[in-house]
Amino acid sequence: KPSQFDAIVVGAGPSGNACAYTLAKAGLKVLQIERGEYPGSKNVQGAILYSDALEKIIPDFREDAPLERHIIEQRVWVLDDNSFVGTHYRSDDYNKPPYNRYTIIRAQFDKWFSSKVREAGALLICETTVNHLIMDGDQVVGVQCDREAGDVYADVVIMADGVNSTLARKAGFHGEIKDSNVALAVKEILFMPEDTIRQRFNIGEEEGVVIEMVGKITDGMMGTGFLYTNKESLTIGIGCMLSDFKGSVNRTSPYALLEKLKQHPSIAPLIQGGEMKEYAAHLIPEGGFYAVPKVYGNGWMIVGDSGGFVNAVHREGSNLAMTTGRLAAETVIAAKAAGKPMSEAVLKAYKTELDKSFVMKDLHKYRDMPEVFHKNNQFFTTYPELVSRAAHKMFTVDGVDKKTKEREIFSSFRTSRSLTGLVGDAVKLWRAFR
Ligand code: FAD
Repeated sequence: KPSQFDAIVVGAGPSGNACAYTLAKAGLKVLQIERGEYPGSKNVQGAILYSDALEKIIPDFREDAPLERHIIEQRVWVLDDNSFVGTHYRSDDYNKPPYNRYTIIRAQFDKWFSSKVREAGALLICETTVNHLIMDGDQVVGVQCDREAGDVYADVVIMADGVNSTLARKAGFHGEIKDSNVALAVKEILFMPEDTIRQRFNIGEEEGVVIEMVGKITDGMMGTGFLYTNKESLTIGIGCMLSDFKGSVNRTSPYALLEKLKQHPSIAPLIQGGEMKEYAAHLIPEGGFYAVPKVYGNGWMIVGDSGGFVNAVHREGSNLAMTTGRLAAETVIAAKAAGKPMSEAVLKAYKTELDKSFVMKDLHKYRDMPEVFHKNNQFFTTYPELVSRAAHKMFTVDGVDKKTKEREIFSSFRTSRSLTGLVGDAVKLWRAFR
């Protein structure tokens, strides 16, 4: 069958939109297929938007994109049952345009991004699921959709279909996704008057705060929590590896963890009075570097969550999604311009560009992180408690001299982890973050 389109993009999340936009802007004939009622209707994110990746695609996005607040303060908290030890970084440099990070509401943002894709000339069809790829030998030549006469042909198909990566799995391009490579996250959006948010977080009209959290809040499982300020709402969420939920001795559910987080004495006052507007659960591919499958072949490429492109340490996903989408599109554009076929040998250029970019460099940097944290739950249980007790001891004025306090603190670390344990944990941390 002759190709009806230069490219078909499956999915209208950040990766699919970045890809379809870049292709259409270059004058290619693009079909984008989205199973949701509208782009964003199925999508879940915290959500922090990192400007840099979007700027490279739509430089003037700030003119009309639906942005909530720009982030001026980053907090990282380690929590035990009733306290937190944390760092706060706030800078007036973050308060000068062009801003570097924003909170967004994904349903609104995806809709906006999609309108740009259509303005650029791509054809978008919603409420349509791609069931599988159409193959001619080992060449992908099109997609089969759940519609009558639903076969569509194109020179190349870009799979931007999210974390489940259903199409690539069905086609045998990679195996089943392991439950130790995905996190299950839940989040709530809590409505709160703008003034209350400003007072509670000590911020101005458009300024925002991010709180990232680790520690006992995940019940010994590998995971993190977060709290973000939107214009008139807060987003609070928590996620842990799916394999940890399955293996959890006390069978904790994600919802129970979120409820517990909301009741934590350091969190409860910040969210008090918040009225729940939305509840969502979603998987996040957090397997990192070693979990990224082969992402190109004859007539196909994989972008975004479908390829496992998430930096869990820095909670970056949407920017990797947009960057991979853009790089895949640029590979197609260059091949078309050179009159080359969409063969595996030609599309390999996509992987070469990925390797040169921050995407693979960052995933490589944290390549051992998933394994280290999976096998060492003391980082989520023992250490938060020890650090909290140490801070408590040092800051309590009770007539005990500071040298004695230091000795007691060191002894509590040694009793809990032993000297070799402490040295071993330091090495593990170095391996995870090197
Ligand atoms: P998706 O956004 O999942 O989009 C995939 C699209 O494909 C969907 O619209 C879906 O409906 C469609 N689709 C799937 N299958 C088919 C099919 N067969 N046919 C047609 N359409 C199909 N990232 C950040 O950068 N910052 C954050 O703060 C952040 N927080 C997060 C918090 C949570 C709770 C979660 C779950 C994720 C978070 N992420 C964050 C990660 C980020 O959301 C993802 O990395 C990003 O959405 C990936 O974009 P994508 O386009 O690859 O996939």
